Parts: sequence; C-alpha cells; structure tokens
Amino acid sequence: MGSALFLSIDQGTTSSRAALYDTSGHQVACCGAPLECRYPADGWVEQDPEAIWQSQLAALHQLEGSISEEQRRAVAACGIANQRETTVLWRRGSGEPLAPAIVWQDGRTAALCTEWKRQGLEEALRQRTGLLVDPYFSASKIVWSLREHPAVAAAATAGQLCFGTVDSWLLWRLCGRHATDCSNASRTLLMDLEQLQWAGDLAAALGVPEQALPELLPSQAPFGSIAAGLPFAGVPITAMLGDQQAATLGQSCLQVGEGKCTYGTGAFLVINTGATIQRSSAGLLSTVGWTDAAGKPTYCLEGSLFNAGTAIQWLRDGLHLIERSDQVNGLAAACSSSGGVMLVPAFTGWGTPHWDPYARGLLIGLTRDTGPAQIARATLEGIALAVATLVELAERALGAPLQELAADGGAAAADLLLQAQADATGVPVRRRADLESTSRGVALLAGVQAGLLPGLEAWSALASAPGARRFEPTLGPLQRQAWSRRWHGAVERSLHWQE
Ligand code: ADP
Repeated sequence: MGSALFLSIDQGTTSSRAALYDTSGHQVACCGAPLECRYPADGWVEQDPEAIWQSQLAALHQLEGSISEEQRRAVAACGIANQRETTVLWRRGSGEPLAPAIVWQDGRTAALCTEWKRQGLEEALRQRTGLLVDPYFSASKIVWSLREHPAVAAAATAGQLCFGTVDSWLLWRLCGRHATDCSNASRTLLMDLEQLQWAGDLAAALGVPEQALPELLPSQAPFGSIAAGLPFAGVPITAMLGDQQAATLGQSCLQVGEGKCTYGTGAFLVINTGATIQRSSAGLLSTVGWTDAAGKPTYCLEGSLFNAGTAIQWLRDGLHLIERSDQVNGLAAACSSSGGVMLVPAFTGWGTPHWDPYARGLLIGLTRDTGPAQIARATLEGIALAVATLVELAERALGAPLQELAADGGAAAADLLLQAQADATGVPVRRRADLESTSRGVALLAGVQAGLLPGLEAWSALASAPGARRFEPTLGPLQRQAWSRRWHGAVERSLHWQE
C-alpha cells in the first residue's frame, strides 16, 4: 500500500481546507474555500453552521475534482482537524442548526462566566478539566444559547438537542454520527481530564443537558465512513483532532518539552508534556494532545493568544494599510524600527495569562513620525511579545528552557514576525517550508490508525526538509528585558477596559 493517500480536512476560522498527503508525508494536492465571521456586537463573533459545512464541502469537491482517478482510488483514510471550542447546536432528527455557531473568540458570555465564578465553581472546573472559567470554552456558549434561543431550549426539553464542536458538526454531516474526540472535548469545560470522560456532575452544575453531548472517542478511532453522494464517499474517517493539537503532531513535537506556536487567527503555544498532566497556576491550560487507539493520552500545556492574524486583518480591512495579509511584512520592513510604537492585540480580550474578556486592544507610543510602516512593525512585534509571555510562563512551568520553537500557520510567513519572536524570547524559531502543520498532523494520525503508517514518528525527518529556515535571537538579555518591561506596561493599560 505504498501508494496510499490520506485526506485531511482542516476547518479553520477563516477558511476550510482539504488536502491529500502521500505515505512519505508530502502534500499531493490542496484546495481551500474562505469562511466568513460575523461580528454582530462588540466582542461577539459568530458563524453560520451551514456556511461552515458548505465551505468545507466546496473544498472537498474542488480537491476531488483536481485529482486523477488513480489518486482518488488511493485515498485510504481521512482525518478531521478543526477550529476548537466553537459551538454548534442542531436538532437530532433533522440535522437543522438551531442557532448561529458561537466562535471561540466570542466574549458574549463574560457575565455568565462571572456568575459561575461567584457560585464558586471555578476551582472544581479547573481541577477536573485543566481549564479556567472563561467565555473561550464551549460550556458557557451552550448555556447562553439555551437561555437566549427558545428553539435550542425546546429541542433540549424534547431530548432532540445535539451539541458539537466543529469536528462533531462535520462528522455528523459527513457520516451521520454524533461523536467527538478527546482533544476537542478537552476544550469544552465539560470533560474530566484524567478520566477522559464527560464530567456529568459538572455538566449538571452548569446547566448543560448531558444527553446533548456527543459520544466521546479517542482521537484515533473508526469514526465512520464518508456517506454516499458526498465527495470522497466511502473513505473511512480514522482520526479527529483540534487544530492546535494536530499542528503539534504535524510539527513532530513528540518528545516531552517539545513545542510549537501556530500563528493563525490567534496564536497558540502547545508543548508536549507526555503522560503527565502539567498544571499551571499562571494561566496556561492543561489539555489533551491526542489519545491513541487504546485511549492512552498524550497531554499538553497550552498558552492561548486570541488575536494574532486578526491584528493583520485589521491593518487590511480596518485601517486599509495593506490590501492583502502577505503585504504586512513588506510594509513593516519599510522602517527599521517601530520607533517606540506598540500594538497590544487584545481586540476580543486576553487569554493567557490574564483571562480578561473585558480587555481591549491598544496602540500606544504614537508620535508625529508614526506612519503605516511603524504600525505594521508594531503589529508584528505585538504578536511576538504576547507569545513571548506564553513561552516564558511555559518554561517556568516546565522548569526548563525551550530549545527551539517550531512555527507555523498563515502569519508565520512573515519573516519579521518570526525574527521578533526569536528576539523577544531568546529562543531560536524554526519554520518549515510548508506552514500547514495542522493538515499534515491529522493526516499522519489518520494514516497510523488505518495501519498504513508505522507510527507517529513516520514523518519526523520532514522537519529538516529543504526550505526550512531558522531565526536566531539577536538581542542581548538587557535589551530584551527593557523591551519586555515596556510591553508589560502597555499590556497593563489594556486590562479591564470594557468592564
Ligand atoms: P486559521 O486556521 O485560524 O483560519 P490560518 O493559519 O489560515 O488561520 O492563518 C490566517 C491568518 O494569517 C489570517 O489572519 C491572515 O491575516 C494571516 N496571514 C495569512 N498569510 C499571511 C502572510 N503572508 N503574512 C502575514 N500574515 C498572513
């Protein structure tokens, strides 16, 4: 079966992609379709569940149309990777969505989360789930929808409500099964991180009907086969993973202490902690990386920055400083320094370490000399400085410095971002030729589960394939500390702004 191909579905916040990988881990073909977010109020971020499905379906149709008959026959297994936490609710019988999908970045449930904290639920939730009480995670999004959408409440009363993160929603549409995997479930605030089962008592305490929850399976499992009439009909789905966990696998971060940062819509630092649940009191999350076919988990420590690529989108769509995201690097390179300007990208609040849904973004240090180039450079530096805090906290929690940071995701194409990252952390940053670690990671897991790849190390050698680049730190410790102090001063000013 040397000629087998693996199909990856990568449903992201801004686009849906479908790609094929061969058994040596090389991408054979890739297609994508854009996906829109709606921002109906300050801090609200929604998507249409039907549009999520249609954009994924379009990517799959395009991909199937772009390959030969022989390649189509070689497709042996499919893996699904997805934007995490985003909450979809639908009716069991008809499959009809009952409310807009509430996207992971959405902060509308801040007051509900405050209510849960006042009720003293936070400690139990932290202990059991490895997370914190924050609008980011799915639970408050479900409860908000139950309270605000009569159709959702009615379906729950009738025992007809299905909740799913985007993996479940796609799986339902692809093969009619209501299931999720442990990595996605570990982001809901409803899964017991040690037992790897739904925490029914917590669900009841929060007001989430347990019968609406999907069947909980390992990340590697026989999830079902793609239904007749759909592109790639008959292909078995053998893996599902949250996108950040998939990227960690795709970057071959297989040893304890190895980590990556994905710079997409947000930026997420994920570090492999092996069989150990590494807990943090500094606002990092403990989460499931993946579970094998027997359900044995690999855990990770994660730092979450909600706005990274969105800051670049803002330069494009809000300020019109650039026409396309890939122009940001060139614009930033038009000046040699940001001239003291800092951009704090807290557009929808802070994740790690402040967990402040009421924070907002900040542009500070403006002078009469500030122009588009300085603002572009400050934007890239602001993302890097925010991620540097995640790295510093993770190093402290692990008790060891990171040897290297693997970078991927759309915005990792910007050289000045990764150079700023190396400078802000003092850690070398490695970028592969191919930035799509998420797709590769879930294709790898699907191939392993299908018995067509020997193990998770199968594609590790690709990390040093031609086209990779390493960014070395250039700042001395004193310069780095001064930069960091100034940054923390700016961040302080962004906190609690909308409270
Ligand atoms: P997601 O999976 O979250 O949708 P992607 O990994 O596709 O994210 O990355 C998309 C983000 O990366 C967008 O916010 C976009 O602004 C940014 N981006 C894409 N290409 C570039 C580039 N060449 N330079 C800088 N930023 C980019």
